[in-house]
Amino acid sequence: MSESSWPDCQECTSGNLLPLSDFGSQGAPIHYKAWVCTSSTCGYNIKIRNGDVYINEPIASGESHSPRPR
Ligand SMILES: [Zn+2]
Repeated sequence: MSESSWPDCQECTSGNLLPLSDFGSQGAPIHYKAWVCTSSTCGYNIKIRNGDVYINEPIASGESHSPRPR
């Protein structure tokens, strides 16, 4: 399988949806838990958690959270 076999992103139609895997609480791998668009300007993502599907959740950058005005 090549990278071009990933499905096209239906949101921006220029990126591809990349499958991401995660690890469960028991350390068991969870394959294709989430799909994220490869276009950084798009950010379309879909994931499953506890049997529910979530679409276009905000992506955490892993750096610092954006400051909240108060
Ligand atoms: Zn996209």
